[in-house]
Amino acid sequence: MVSKKGFKTIKMGKQKRIALIAHDNRKKDMIQWVEINKDKLNKHFLCGTGTTATLISETINLPVKAFKSGPLGGDQQIGSRIAEGDIDFMIFFWDPLEAQPHDPDVKALLRIAVLYDIPVANNQSTADFLLSSPFMEEEYIRKLVDFSKDMADRTQDLKMDL
Ligand code: PGA
Repeated sequence: MVSKKGFKTIKMGKQKRIALIAHDNRKKDMIQWVEINKDKLNKHFLCGTGTTATLISETINLPVKAFKSGPLGGDQQIGSRIAEGDIDFMIFFWDPLEAQPHDPDVKALLRIAVLYDIPVANNQSTADFLLSSPFMEEEYIRKLVDFSKDMADRTQDLKMDL
């Protein structure tokens, strides 16, 4: 629902806070991509779902903060950080050919990423384009719909029905 909107802005710093996630069949691609782009990624703060983060940290000498493994809640943890404004960029190589036990979490994460207007790459070419963007070296202002008035109005309406 988008109505009577104001907007609010969120500033992304020069150092981006990047989440890295890959489903099992895409982990090799992710690790190769990170290795190729190690020098660029090194300038940013990296985090990821448990197994992806640990594999990257251990095979490439790059610090990646690990959340829980995706199927154990890691996608939801990352979604919550996006909603809180603590993660502002996501590379998520999900598997287009195999269902996951945590598909609802994957869908929720992708939705939150769109809602909070963060850059998201779901495949390698998009990741290449994003990483070579001049915005990677600059601050960037994201413009979000401010729902606070809608929420206040809705709470008021619902209160009248009680
Ligand atoms: P994993 O999680 O990095 O812990 O394997 C990825 C995912 O399935 O979301």
